[in-house]
Amino acid sequence: MADHTPTPETTDGSGAGTTAAGLRPATVAVTAGRPAHEPDQPLNVPLVPAATYVAGGDREYGRYGNPTWEAFEEVLGGLEGGRALGFSTGMAAITCLLDLVGTGAGVVLPRHAYLGSTMAAADLEGRGRLRTTLVDVTDPDAVAAACDDDVALLWLESPTNPALEVADLERLAAIGHAAGATVVVDNTFATPLRQRPLDLGADVVVHSATKYLAGHSDALLGALVTRDDGLHQVLSDRRRLTGAVPGTLEAFLAVRGMRTLHLRLDRAEENARVLAARAAEHPAVAEVRYPGFGAIVALVLAGAEEGEGPGSAALAGDLLVRSTALWVHATSLGGVESTFERRRRWRGEAATIPQGLVRLSVGVEDVEDLWDDLARGLDRLTR
Ligand code: PLP
Repeated sequence: MADHTPTPETTDGSGAGTTAAGLRPATVAVTAGRPAHEPDQPLNVPLVPAATYVAGGDREYGRYGNPTWEAFEEVLGGLEGGRALGFSTGMAAITCLLDLVGTGAGVVLPRHAYLGSTMAAADLEGRGRLRTTLVDVTDPDAVAAACDDDVALLWLESPTNPALEVADLERLAAIGHAAGATVVVDNTFATPLRQRPLDLGADVVVHSATKYLAGHSDALLGALVTRDDGLHQVLSDRRRLTGAVPGTLEAFLAVRGMRTLHLRLDRAEENARVLAARAAEHPAVAEVRYPGFGAIVALVLAGAEEGEGPGSAALAGDLLVRSTALWVHATSLGGVESTFERRRRWRGEAATIPQGLVRLSVGVEDVEDLWDDLARGLDRLTR
C-alpha cells in the first residue's frame, strides 16, 4: 500500500523500540499505513465500506480483506514488530486463539487475567474441549509446574487485569517453549510503547484495540500479532471462517487513535504516577497498586473484606464510584477520559481480588482536576 511505510522489524529481536527501517515508535505511529506520497493521494487511508470487490485481485470479498483494516494492521504490526490481524473485538481475537487448541490439551492462564479470557477458557473446559490451569504469573516456578506435557498454550498478561502484577515475560516465554507451548501475551495494558512481547519471545500478541490503541472509547476492535508467517496464515484463515472481522469504521477510528498513542500514553502515565503517589497518602486507601508504567492504577480501599454493609471495603468502593464529577463510573479503560470501577461488582471476577479494589483508568485531563475530584470522593469515605 505505502511506498514509505516502515516495514515490521525482522525476527531477530534486535533493535527493540525501532523498526527495521530504523524508525522510532512515535514515527511509526504517525507514518505507518498511509497511502503512497503521490499527487492527489489522500494523506489518510479512507474508510472503505466494501462488502465485495471486482473479481481477480487479492481481496475478492469483504470478509477476506479491506484497505482500512490493512492500514490498522500496518500501524499495529509496525509498533509490535510483527504482522497484525484485526478482529471485531479483543474477545474475538482471544477466542480465535483458544479455538485452535486441540481437544483435551492444556491451557495455562494467569489467575488474574482479564475476566473474559479466563471465562472463555473455562467455557471451553466445561464443554470438554480443553483443560485449564490458573497460575500466579509472578511465580515462574508455579508456571513451570503448571506447564505439563500436554500444554498447548501458555497465556500471559502483564500487567494483569485488575491485580496489576508484572510478569517476567522473557523467562515465562522460555518456560512455555521448553514445554512445547505456544506463548501468547495480552499486551492491552502495556501497549507496544511500553512492552514488546515478540521481542521477549512470545509467539502471539493479543490486543483489545478497544482500549489504548483506539483510545477514545468509541470503537470495539481486537488484534493478534505474530512474526511466524505460518501462524499468521492459520489465524487469518480462522478469521475468515469465523467472520470475526473488524468493522471498517472501527478500523478507521483505531488508525486515527494510534496516530496520537504516544502522546496520550505519556500524558496519562504522567497523571497516573502523580495520582498513585497522592492516593497512597490518603487514609481511605489501604494499598495502591501501580506497576510503575502505564496508566492503570488500582486503589484497595480500607474496610472489612467481608459483607457489603457499613465499614465494608465493598461499600466504600461503591460509594467512591458514585461520588465524583469528573471520574466516570464505567467499565473498560484506555480512553482519553478517566474512568473507574470496583471490579468485584462483576460476578466471576477472581475471589482473590479484594472487594475494595477500584481500578482507575487514568486519562489525559489536567491532573490537578483529577486529584481534586478523586480526593473529594476519598475524603467522604473517612468522614
Ligand atoms: N484483554 C484485556 C486486558 C481487556 O481488558 C479486555 C476488555 O476489557 C479484553 C482483552 C477484551 O477486549 P474487547 O472488550 O475488545 O473484546
